Amino acid sequence: MSSIKTISSAEPPQVLGKDKTTPDETQHRGAGMMPVVVVHGGAVQVPEERAEITISGVCSAARSGYLVLEEGGSSLDAVVEAVVQMENSPYFSAGCGSVLNVKGEVEMDAIVMDGKTLGSGSVSAVRDIANPVQLARLVMEKTSHAFLTAEGASKFARSVGVPEVSQESLITEYSRMFWKKNLVPDANPVECQMEKMGTVGAVAVDKDGNVACATSTGGMPNKMEGRVGDTPCVGSGGYADNQSGAVSATGHGEANMRVTLSRLILFHMEQGQSAEAASDLGLAYLKSRLGALGGVVTVDPQGNWTSRFSTQQMPWAAAQNDTLHYGLNSGEHFRRSFSEQH
Ligand code: ASP
Repeated sequence: MSSIKTISSAEPPQVLGKDKTTPDETQHRGAGMMPVVVVHGGAVQVPEERAEITISGVCSAARSGYLVLEEGGSSLDAVVEAVVQMENSPYFSAGCGSVLNVKGEVEMDAIVMDGKTLGSGSVSAVRDIANPVQLARLVMEKTSHAFLTAEGASKFARSVGVPEVSQESLITEYSRMFWKKNLVPDANPVECQMEKMGTVGAVAVDKDGNVACATSTGGMPNKMEGRVGDTPCVGSGGYADNQSGAVSATGHGEANMRVTLSRLILFHMEQGQSAEAASDLGLAYLKSRLGALGGVVTVDPQGNWTSRFSTQQMPWAAAQNDTLHYGLNSGEHFRRSFSEQH
């Protein structure tokens, strides 16, 4: 267990809801529920000059997701809202601002999952829509499938009226600069991934105790055309089950997939671990087994939540009970009430 202690992560413990319920209590799920939205902006190294805007991006996404819950929306509505906001921001690698593939093009992956039904929707390698997370939700709700890719996903998007956008509108100066930097012969895009703009994700619990997750990404910098990472894969980039909780994951997709990181964490929660301990166990396994680093946001159905990462930084924020929690560096945990201005 000593490897867990080597993980640098947000200040423990971040347990704000009720203690984990016994099996008997779960029959009364909903009573004393603490609705919450927790978001991340990727397990990355954020350049200093972008730190403040990145933090403000995750805070505003968590807050918007929480407002959806307050207005009676479901956890699924809340995670999609939070992720859409971050997809629309050029400071994250999802939607506009996505990192580019080796050809200098945007190819995006996303997933949503509903813990009540175990319904999930994913898209991969989509190039011409602004909000892949919304398309993933439409795949879940309007098709008999769970995953659509590339041109098939685009055709489906057109058929349900999702507006097409140009590649140019998704590419930022920063992502182009980053792509060029990684084109030089001795560049290491995997190492460089830790310095890039981050993947985005959210988990939430609503007042009925339903959990949900959503994750969206441009993937790995300078990836091969057609490469698909962990993000849209059920159990890797995210998982949600009302019987255990919800996770959204970030990190090196090829590694996260090999340990099915999100599902691994929920397995530990099923074995009685708290959201925080289970997240640490999952990240410790990723590190000890594959030498890989990553990050997650995790909730249980009672509204206990955590944000854990083994990278040096991961922008994250949580909104619960009129309080906004947020941090970037390992061990950081700031709090302010919703009424305070940032
Ligand atoms: N997991 C994402 C991918 O491999 C990248 C990231 O989370 O930064 O596509």
